[in-house]
Amino acid sequence: MQVFRRGDEGPVVAEIRAKLGRLGLPGEGPGDGDVFDDVTDRAVRTFQQRRGLRVDGVVGPETYRALDEAHWQLGDRVLSFTAGHMFVGDDVAVLQERLLDMGFDPGRCDGIFGRQTESALREFQRGVGLVPDGTVGPSTLRALDMLRRTVTGGSPSQRREEERLMRSGSAVSGRIVLLDPGHGGDDLGACAHDLAESEVAFDLASRIEGRLGALGVQPLLTRGADGCPDDQARAAFANETGADLLISLHLDAVMAAAPNGVATYFYGAQLPGRSVSSAVGERLADLVQHEIVARTDLRDCRTHPKAWQLLRMTRMPAVRIDVGYVTNAGDAARLRRPEFRDAVAEAVAVGVQRLYLPEEPDRTRGQIRLPALAG
Ligand SMILES: [Zn+2]
Repeated sequence: MQVFRRGDEGPVVAEIRAKLGRLGLPGEGPGDGDVFDDVTDRAVRTFQQRRGLRVDGVVGPETYRALDEAHWQLGDRVLSFTAGHMFVGDDVAVLQERLLDMGFDPGRCDGIFGRQTESALREFQRGVGLVPDGTVGPSTLRALDMLRRTVTGGSPSQRREEERLMRSGSAVSGRIVLLDPGHGGDDLGACAHDLAESEVAFDLASRIEGRLGALGVQPLLTRGADGCPDDQARAAFANETGADLLISLHLDAVMAAAPNGVATYFYGAQLPGRSVSSAVGERLADLVQHEIVARTDLRDCRTHPKAWQLLRMTRMPAVRIDVGYVTNAGDAARLRRPEFRDAVAEAVAVGVQRLYLPEEPDRTRGQIRLPALAG
C-alpha cells in the first residue's frame, strides 16, 4: 500500500483522520479534513506510541492495519471463527480478556479470533446455558456483560502463559525453536559498511542452529539462504510447525552514524483499558539480551514490547533481536568478526536454555559455557 505522511492529502488521508478522531485523538480538525497536517502527524505518533508501533508519524501498512483494528468495539459486528479470513480487532481482544477473566482459555489476547478463542467461547456458552455456536451474537453479548468481573492484580493472560511454560517441563531437549533470519533474497535489509543485513542474519541463524542442535533442540529456519517470505508467511509457518519459540534476527539501521547497540523485542501492545504482553516472550527477551550484553561489548539498548506482525501473529513466545547497528562503524566492525558472531550465537542458545531452567538468581550471567549446561 501507499505510505502517507505529513503534507499528503486525499480521500485516504480523510479516512485516516476520521479514524484517529473516533479514537479520541486530535486527527479531525475543522475545514481541510483531507490534509495530513501537523495535528494529524502528532495524532499518528500518539497512536503509534500507544500501540507499540514504530513511532515515525508515517501511516504505512502496519499503522494503517492497527488503525483499522482499533476502531472495532465489542458488539459492533457479529464475531465467529472463519478459517480463511479471521476477525481481527480490539473487539476480539476485549472478548478474549473477558473470557480469560472468567477462567476460560482463549489463548493469547492478541485480538485475533482463532480456533482457541472459538473453543473458549463455546465452553463459556455451554457454561451459561446458551447454544454453543461459537458466535458472538446479541444473547452472548448480554451474557458476557452480565457476568463481567473485575479482576485485580496481574493479567490472567500472562498467568496463563506462565502456567503453560511451567507445565511444559524444564528440559530444553526435544523443543522446536524456529530461527527467523530477517529479509533475504532480493531484500537485503539494511546495508552499510560492506555488510548486508540479510546475510548477517542468515549467518547468525546458522551458527545458532548448530548450537541448539547440540543441546538436543530441533532448530528450524523460516527461510533458506535466498528466500524472502513476508511476515505473514513466516508467522504461518511458525504456527504450522508448532514451534515452542521463535527467534527473529535483524540488524538495526538509522540515518545517523552514532546510534549503536543491541535491543530485543517481545510481543506487547496497548489495548482498550489495559496493556497486554507475552510474559514468556519478555522473559526470553531479557535472558537473551543479558547474555548478549555479558558476552560482547555491544551497548545495552534493553528490551521493549512491540506489536509487530511477526511477534503478534505467532502463537508461541517470540522475540526479535536487533544485533547492533549496521550503520555504526563500531558495530559493523564487530559484526564482521566470526568470533563475535559465535559469541552472539552462544548467548542466544544459552538464553533459550535458561528459559527452561528453574530460576537460579545467584548464577552469574555470561559465566556459563554451553557444555556445562548441556551436561
Ligand atoms: Zn531488518
